[in-house]
Amino acid sequence: MAKIQRLPLHVANQIAAGEVIERPSSVVKELVENSLDAGARRIVVEVEDGGRSLRVVDDGEGMDEADARLAFERFATSKLRSADEIFQLLTMGFRGEALASIASIAEVECLTRLQGAERGTRVLVEGGSEPVVKPAGCPFGTAITVNRLFYNTPARLKFLRAPATEQGHIHDVLLGLALCHPGVSFQLRINGKEALATPGRTSLQEVVAALYGDAMAQTLVPLAHQGGGVRVSGLATRPDALRTDRSRQFFFVNQRWVRHPLLSKAIEEAYGEWLLPGRHPGFILFLEVDPATVDINVHPAKKEVRLGHSQRVYLAVLDALRLAFAEHWTPEDYAAESLPGVAAEPVPEVYSGVPGPAGARWLGV
Ligand code: ADP
Ligand code: MG
Repeated sequence: MAKIQRLPLHVANQIAAGEVIERPSSVVKELVENSLDAGARRIVVEVEDGGRSLRVVDDGEGMDEADARLAFERFATSKLRSADEIFQLLTMGFRGEALASIASIAEVECLTRLQGAERGTRVLVEGGSEPVVKPAGCPFGTAITVNRLFYNTPARLKFLRAPATEQGHIHDVLLGLALCHPGVSFQLRINGKEALATPGRTSLQEVVAALYGDAMAQTLVPLAHQGGGVRVSGLATRPDALRTDRSRQFFFVNQRWVRHPLLSKAIEEAYGEWLLPGRHPGFILFLEVDPATVDINVHPAKKEVRLGHSQRVYLAVLDALRLAFAEHWTPEDYAAESLPGVAAEPVPEVYSGVPGPAGARWLGV
């Protein structure tokens, strides 16, 4: 008798889910990125039970009945047709397995209505079962409700942390996405209480004001610099307005939130002697580099990022900050000769990681 057996589809999906869906915040990330890909202007996320129950509602393009059914099949995607496209892809998600994965480890309901369509569709999937699809009345856009997350994967369930920790991770995911998308209004409600809200249709400055207050927003100078194939934009604290905590520090590489000593080092050098002990800048720094030089696909869940030309990235960040200080801030004792300079030692080629547990914060809550 043959020893090799094909795994049943729902088991294959659960295994795939193990890679994509690490914890409740991974579900939120996948669903909200889908909403953004669908062109949503308003995204509401509701979370309960430490993230084991959650809902993401958007006003995006929605799906017709056929697409809504297909969306839950593994490797079903409207965003990618060939492996080559991965490198040109600008949308956020591309594996075509998020919904199938989530639906294999939870009870999922999708209510969706294509913009302009007469009626909507309701899809129910439970633990990877065959989707039940029915017509339904619902608003334009898509609402996906996830209940009993990890109910059939006890090993995962066991690894869940305290609700406050999981909620903190969800908060972080929303925070990162809100900073990257000032045009979109984000709302996060945890156990019925508003935990984060941005107005949408606005600038980064106003998103920061909404998240952290006007006082913080007013201490920031705008960054706008391009050099060595790297585009730098965002906001950073004036050297004379440094903060006493380092919680408001964000690096995004091609819209992905990353953290790496290389970038922190460039920041440190730019602030130079203003960086007294216990003083830290706040910054939201966006780097745009040729997608072909960033490998975002090293690991589906760990978000390791491999970045080419790190020396150029380092210099671009340094120059962006120095130029911004020179242009927007002129204290008497700021020496002109310390303006755009050359970086010191060479920097490592690889960096990895989205913020870990230390990044789990409760800000403005
Ligand atoms: P991927 O995002 O990698 O394509 P997903 O499993 O996340 O894979 O989604 C599958 C497909 O379902 C998407 O390609 C998209 O066409 C559709 N879809 C998912 N979420 C939404 C949404 N909120 N609005 C409209 N379409 C959606
Ligand atoms: Mg997706």
